[in-house]
Amino acid sequence: MDKRLPQTGLDIATLLAEPYQATGGIASAVPPIVQTSLFTFDDYAAFEARMSGQTDSPIYTRVQNPTVSAFEDMMARAEGAEEGIGFASGMAAISGTLLSLLTPGDRMVCITHVYSDTFRLIETHLKPCGIEVSYHDPSEFETDPDLLKGARLAYLESPGSMMMRTLDLARVAEHARRHGALTVIDNTWATPVLQNPIAHGIDVSLHSASKYIGGHSDTVAGVVCTSAEIAARIRVHALTLFGGKLAPFEAFLLTRGLRTLSARMAQHQRAADLFVDRLASRPEVRAIHAPGQGSCLKGRSGLMSIEFDDAVDIPRFADALRLFRLGVSWGGFESLVLPASVGLAQAADPNPMRHFGVPDRMVRLSLGLEAPEDLWADFCAALDAAHS
Ligand SMILES: *Cc1c(COP(=O)(O)O)cnc(C)c1O
Repeated sequence: MDKRLPQTGLDIATLLAEPYQATGGIASAVPPIVQTSLFTFDDYAAFEARMSGQTDSPIYTRVQNPTVSAFEDMMARAEGAEEGIGFASGMAAISGTLLSLLTPGDRMVCITHVYSDTFRLIETHLKPCGIEVSYHDPSEFETDPDLLKGARLAYLESPGSMMMRTLDLARVAEHARRHGALTVIDNTWATPVLQNPIAHGIDVSLHSASKYIGGHSDTVAGVVCTSAEIAARIRVHALTLFGGKLAPFEAFLLTRGLRTLSARMAQHQRAADLFVDRLASRPEVRAIHAPGQGSCLKGRSGLMSIEFDDAVDIPRFADALRLFRLGVSWGGFESLVLPASVGLAQAADPNPMRHFGVPDRMVRLSLGLEAPEDLWADFCAALDAAHS
């Protein structure tokens, strides 16, 4: 029962309606957690056939596990990709992908305002390993057809971290293909519900599944969606050799998260649309960074940044919030606020927010699943309390 879905107009709830096909004629509603490190063989012939590549059943959970495969298959179908690869974290997915696809001497062209730990990975590991990296504004990717000349790989985020700048993915994919460069996007913000990069010609769409895909702030995980050919290269390096595998229990939680992803994204979007409609009426709000339906995006997620004018005491605003909690990360059920001034003060070096210049009057909001009117009332009450 292989119901392939169209690559666009995705309905993840429909996609996941079919029962998991267990062995022995049992169709369980959800995939079981196959909590085992290894898989044994009935006899010598079966063992040898598997080891020599004539069969493809799981051997060892570092490389292959049925619960992890169930999640990988769901993600591949959601992204319209040939394959998905689960990872222990978003950073394991990002480092595993980049270290598998790049070799010393290669040139990588990266978007500015890239996720903080991706920036640190580039600066502290990729560059010292002999990979040349330059950072460019989204507009340069779109307007300079020769930006990727001689590059091995373009690393993208759209919307980008903190500043939420977006890219015309089809245009960038076209420039990249002309120069033979691979394109990789971190699609965490949009999820497959709001953006399908592979349909726009991007080679690799990866996620921190710790955010919307898990959706309940209880799991750290990552996933890479791509062609069978690229997936084979990433698997052999990143899983077999670097070992950043996804655990069966986490994979189970992610299959659970995916089942409600469309419904949760619709609720996040309702809150985000309400905030964007009303934020303009607050005189303290100097700028709103909340991309919505556009060239590639089908709508808004719950993550946005806003800039306050000098009349707002940002620590007092943060402390006056009651529904929004203070914290990093996002994409869960709960609403969060991250003031840029806290990120700018972060001790970890190098600091991408200082490097790329994030305004210190900015706060990032992650709108959760609470009633949007309650969130707006909380936001307004905190703002009223924060006038210096
Ligand atoms: C959180 C995040 C990551 C890192 O993912 P982890 O699961 O925390 O390792 C990467 N990219 C983006 C955009 C993120 O928000």
